[in-house]
Amino acid sequence: MQNPGVTAEFRALVEDARTLLTWCDDLGCEGLDAPWFSGGALATQATAREGQGGGRESGTRQVPPGAAQPSQMAQAGITAFRSAVSGDPAPSDRPAAAARRVAPTAVGDDERRTRLALLAEEARTCKACRLHEARTQAVFARGNPMSELCFVGEGPGADEDAQGEPFVGKAGQLLDKMITAMGYRRDDVYICNIVKCRPPENRKPEPDEVSACVRLVDGQLGLIAPKAIVALGATALQGLTGSADGITRARGKWKLYKGAVPVMPTFHPAYLLRQPEAKREVWSDLKQVMKLLGKE
Ligand code: SF4
Repeated sequence: MQNPGVTAEFRALVEDARTLLTWCDDLGCEGLDAPWFSGGALATQATAREGQGGGRESGTRQVPPGAAQPSQMAQAGITAFRSAVSGDPAPSDRPAAAARRVAPTAVGDDERRTRLALLAEEARTCKACRLHEARTQAVFARGNPMSELCFVGEGPGADEDAQGEPFVGKAGQLLDKMITAMGYRRDDVYICNIVKCRPPENRKPEPDEVSACVRLVDGQLGLIAPKAIVALGATALQGLTGSADGITRARGKWKLYKGAVPVMPTFHPAYLLRQPEAKREVWSDLKQVMKLLGKE
């Protein structure tokens, strides 16, 4: 019988925690020091897991004997979770100072949605570069345009071209896991690409194609005014900051977009599908973003 003390909010919290543990299992990372793991049953489970050598588990996780009852767990978990997501002040390093410096966008929520819809329509009919020739449709964005965090990738692949949404294939599913592990829900963040039309054969976009399209991502980011951006791969980093560094060299080091918004470069999820051992570096990069946003 369902315990009425276990609220829908707590069940969602547990689901997020389970996803985070799965992601951490994949990584073999030591990422369980977030505030909502610092006490209660989830911490007990994490400790028990570590005691078993941190390997993969299968089946349902059981609440250990002596752990708090669900109603107590719900209250403690929700309190810790709210504390975690509301965030402590960001550290006074350079990107954090930039994050605080970014003024909220000058337009209201409705105006922001309206202007983004106009930009999406502009992309839909755009023929400013050769990529329009083979596209099924332009792929503009998905997620929350009020978000404090934006992810910017390279360009649409076959799944995205067919469905009209960025990051919906296997790489997108991996990105969703990364987002959940950071303490967000899939649609809490805003996700787009540097170019809006699929390059043929999934090739890298040419510099002139990036130059032709970057006005759209500039429009999007100008309206959203995020506190931080994650650049997924070298093309995204170059389009946002002009940096010509390869992603292996650039990842993990803060850059600035327009001299104001902190950008964290990291590997593209498609690369992680080919090189899963690089997830550890990505998690390290994402933890820097979480710290900046007060989510660590
Ligand atoms: Fe226009 Fe960008 Fe599509 Fe090129 S990729 S046609 S610039 S929307």
